Amino acid sequence: HGAVIALRHRVTHIDCRPGRFTLTVEGPDQPFQLRAERLINAAGLGAVPLTGLMDGLPEKHRPEQRFAKGHYFKLRGKPPAERLIYPLPDADGLGVHLTLDLAGGARFGPDVEWAERPDYRVDESRRESFEQAVRRYWPGLPAGALQPDYAGVRPKLWLDGKPYRDFLIQGQGEHGIDGLVNLLGIESPGLTAALALAERLEESA
Ligand SMILES: Cc1cc2nc3c(=O)[nH]c(=O)nc-3n(C[C@H](O)[C@H](O)[C@H](O)COP(=O)(O)OP(=O)(O)OC[C@H]3O[C@@H](n4cnc5c(N)ncnc54)[C@H](O)[C@@H]3O)c2cc1C
Repeated sequence: HGAVIALRHRVTHIDCRPGRFTLTVEGPDQPFQLRAERLINAAGLGAVPLTGLMDGLPEKHRPEQRFAKGHYFKLRGKPPAERLIYPLPDADGLGVHLTLDLAGGARFGPDVEWAERPDYRVDESRRESFEQAVRRYWPGLPAGALQPDYAGVRPKLWLDGKPYRDFLIQGQGEHGIDGLVNLLGIESPGLTAALALAERLEESA
């Protein structure tokens, strides 16, 4: 469909005029400018920082973003079930649940650790809290069966010192700039929701 993907390039400034956007882009070569009539900011963890680089977007449309790191531990041995198992959600996330991967392996996660910056290490000392969380719905978890696996970071929006909503879609109706859509706080389940989000953007285009 004529799309171009620019890997290893970073947008460092955006001049926002309704229906006319000028982006400054830096990469391995000389910086250059891109012009567009429409701009969709779907920069994940970078989406809120990107609003800070938009000249012309009023300050009140830039929410605060914090990083919620989530760890996963994988199970050594046979999974206890053939389906996913979810505990009741806690205040900041879905809770440590059981997921099965395509190879038939089982992993548990994610938990929530508020972080200053994205960091993808998995600290082994969290094993005990994972064991406690898992034994709430699988008391038979064998000792020592959980191994550190991987971590991810969710972009959480905050307002007035507390967690605010997720999936904040700001279009012209919110900020008044024709042609600009900001997708902010697209955390879990942003992957599952990607096609629905795309349909919604197409309808509003
Ligand atoms: C621990 C964890 C568990 C999750 N579990 C699930 C799940 O079970 N199901 C589910 O559906 N979703 C899940 N999610 C959420 C899902 O991963 C995200 O919602 C989804 O990846 C967001 O996609 P995106 O395209 O909006 O952002 P991203 O995939 O983050 O893509 C944004 C892109 O923008 C680029 N970018 C940022 N800033 C700039 C800039 N200034 N210039 C140029 N490029 C820039 C980044 O490099 C990146 O490539 C989970 C997330 C985490 C962290």
